[in-house]
Amino acid sequence: MTEDHTPVRVRFAPSPTGSLHIGGARTAYFNWLFARQSGGTFVLRIDDTDTARSTEASLQEILRGFRWLGIDWDEGPDVGGPFGPYRQSERSAIYREALQRLLNEGKVYPCFCSQEQLAADREAAQRAGRAPRYARRCRDLTPEQVAERMAAGETPVYRFKSPIEGETVVHDRIRGDVVFSNEELDDFVVWKPDGMPTYHFASCVDDAAMHITHVIRAEEHLSNTPKHVVLFEALGAKVPEFAHVPMILAPDRSKLSKRHGATSVQEYRDQGILPDALINYLLLLGFAPGEDKEILSREEAIQVFRLDKVTRHAAVYDVKKLEWLNAQYFRSLSPDVVLSMVWPTLRERGYVEADPDHRTLAWIRTVLAATQERSRNAADLVENVSYYFRDPVAYDEKGVRKHFAGEDVDVRLERLADILDQVEPFGVVPLEQTYRSLAAEWQVKAGMLIHPTRLAITGVTVGPGLFDVMALLGRAACQSRLRRAANWIRTNRSEL
Ligand code: GLU
Repeated sequence: MTEDHTPVRVRFAPSPTGSLHIGGARTAYFNWLFARQSGGTFVLRIDDTDTARSTEASLQEILRGFRWLGIDWDEGPDVGGPFGPYRQSERSAIYREALQRLLNEGKVYPCFCSQEQLAADREAAQRAGRAPRYARRCRDLTPEQVAERMAAGETPVYRFKSPIEGETVVHDRIRGDVVFSNEELDDFVVWKPDGMPTYHFASCVDDAAMHITHVIRAEEHLSNTPKHVVLFEALGAKVPEFAHVPMILAPDRSKLSKRHGATSVQEYRDQGILPDALINYLLLLGFAPGEDKEILSREEAIQVFRLDKVTRHAAVYDVKKLEWLNAQYFRSLSPDVVLSMVWPTLRERGYVEADPDHRTLAWIRTVLAATQERSRNAADLVENVSYYFRDPVAYDEKGVRKHFAGEDVDVRLERLADILDQVEPFGVVPLEQTYRSLAAEWQVKAGMLIHPTRLAITGVTVGPGLFDVMALLGRAACQSRLRRAANWIRTNRSEL
């Protein structure tokens, strides 16, 4: 509820001219959280008055992005609602009607100034060191003058008759009261010569018609907001509360852009970022949940989110934090989900058959489960389990220097391969016993056998318990890889 007990209604109003950017997704999430915690309504409105740049493909990508993130909407282009249509391109009649009303009331006026005239005005202002403002040349044309120029076939733009003196105050839930001098307002254009409303006009007409109580949007719109306040007043609508959420900057504090890596929701998805991790990360961009708590589900975020606690200063994008969060969420995924995530890549690489039997499938699940905890995401997991499906393609260089360079390593590996014949059953405990007793017998530390074995079998120096890996791989693969490594050492001995 708002202070005067009307139910909360918020909206996110993307322009479908590109992908769903992380900044837009964050603004939408803050709107959604605010609506959900107050039992309000979240409206998705499509600002597609820029017909040249708006595309259906972009709209669909935005909707897909929200669905993937788990952000749902109560009213919108696909689900409808009592204040539709929810695409601005379908609301022309509503804007025309509002324009006519303001014209009748003398709150807007037609302006016939040519582009050349306006450009000359701007230049003159610049030369005089003044801010470029419309010279209000057409503000006081008589109805007869207007009729005459219309009859002559001139197409006007329509301008808002802004107050010339005084101040306009924007009440902002994040920034407090922001005061603008009305001199800055200008007689801004509400209707373009192409017969379309400007963003300011369409946005305010819609926010009023849709009974939006809180406009939560990007900081870059704060400077537009005094225009909106006077427009709401002119329309006879209640001025909504505002909340301008901070910008998202790159780590070097420049504007976040493509060169800083992924910035669209789709790109994150393609890179293996999980929706739960991304949505969690969005919360942290401008909001501190407190108590050093950083991992919050949507439900927890609904509980703790406070619009007035959103920071005023810019949020700095930190890909490391996002990756860390992703790893936390990845590790808690169920085996079935993990399997479905990595399956296409396992297939692509030829690691698995299209239709494996029950036993193989169970084996694959065990392999994945053994390594999930040590993996950051699906792609990392596939890398980490690759040695279960093929012989190592190379041996870790540092590992080679440490574990393959000693004298007799090749001989020991050969011996181990032979001895594995006798391990019965070929399981974790018997393997461990074998290694321990051999170490004692050969008077070496167990590590002298374990580390070279791991490198020989997996190509790397880290991973789950070696005996678990060996048991999962099976006797034949272990033996052949030990012998292969022994040969490799002999061939490369001079360089070790
Ligand atoms: N379509 C505008 C944008 O994407 C909406 C701004 C607003 O929320 O008023 O920036």
